[in-house]
Amino acid sequence: MTGRRILLTPGPLTTDPRTRQAMADDWGSREASFIALTAELRRRLLAVVQAGEDFTAVPLQGSGTFIVEAALGALVGPSDKLLVLANGAYGERMVQIAQRQGREVAALRWPEDAPVDPEHLDRALRDAPQVTHVAFVHCETTTGLLNPLDEIAEVVARAGRRLIVDAMSSFGALPIDLARTPVSALLASSNKCLEGVPGLGFSVVRTADLAASAGRSPSVSLDLHDQWRGLETNGQWRFTPPVQVVAALVEALRLLEAEGGPTARRARYAENFRLLIEGMASMGFEPYLSSRLQSGIIATFRTPRDRPFDFNGFYQALAENGFVIYPGKLSREETFRIGCIGAIGADDIRRLLAAVAAVSPAT
Ligand SMILES: *Cc1c(COP(=O)(O)O)cnc(C)c1O
Repeated sequence: MTGRRILLTPGPLTTDPRTRQAMADDWGSREASFIALTAELRRRLLAVVQAGEDFTAVPLQGSGTFIVEAALGALVGPSDKLLVLANGAYGERMVQIAQRQGREVAALRWPEDAPVDPEHLDRALRDAPQVTHVAFVHCETTTGLLNPLDEIAEVVARAGRRLIVDAMSSFGALPIDLARTPVSALLASSNKCLEGVPGLGFSVVRTADLAASAGRSPSVSLDLHDQWRGLETNGQWRFTPPVQVVAALVEALRLLEAEGGPTARRARYAENFRLLIEGMASMGFEPYLSSRLQSGIIATFRTPRDRPFDFNGFYQALAENGFVIYPGKLSREETFRIGCIGAIGADDIRRLLAAVAAVSPAT
């Protein structure tokens, strides 16, 4: 395939040429220039969410799930109890991880088209004094649903528990302000709203909570505490760092700042989303979520019933036009997803809509 390929997925996604260019070098893991890049990375990650002196940023090799596993394994101890608030596949994945780690875990569940209800959580915490940690997914990428971070954080803090947030598909675009929202740890990765290339996850975590987690992790390579101690000791990663991924992410973070930070990025994504929803609706594609639940990060559409529709054929035809979309991930309904994030803008969405019109004409 020639020409620019547009990834309309939850990641990996379309990156800026400057971000890809930043990888065109080699770095030794112990070189001063790479140690400086790592330090800049950690500093910039904290700044994105207004994390003050009580927080530290710890990057870790791997995809997003690796950082979820590393954070749960270290922060939730063998005598703790985790409550996961789940309304999609990524919430369920946290339950599965905690179970595999042998931790005590319970789940409060909502349907995939309903947000976490903070009042319900409040009552549940009253009835469960043994719960020490609460975890949930800020933007459930399964559907694109936004869960109410500030309200949940307030309930959890008032109840004296600690909050772990999978902010994988919100970090860098949706508003998160650690100066006023009480959170123990945020988890995210390089290749979503930060628009880096895939290869690392990170946690912005309260230093005191991390310091208290020594020796708890059931994993060596995914021990968030030891990863942090390594970085603090000599500025180096414990094991082979993904040097090009780090270089690309630092460049992507500089580009985020140049764009105007998360507020400006969110505005660009929101315009992508608005054009997409309107354009798709005019062709008979119905969004799965009502508009007040949408994060604007990714849109889930119901498979149309007014015409013959085969997702694989639709996917292939769009791919041949340079657009990569994503299958649905819902347990009960036939859907597909189109992402609005990455280094893309209104023109890309308009071109996508023209391709959809050609590939699957409305009847
Ligand atoms: C992308 C994502 C993850 C991590 O997925 P990986 O495939 O491991 O990168 C976790 N949670 C959410 C909400 C996500 O969107």
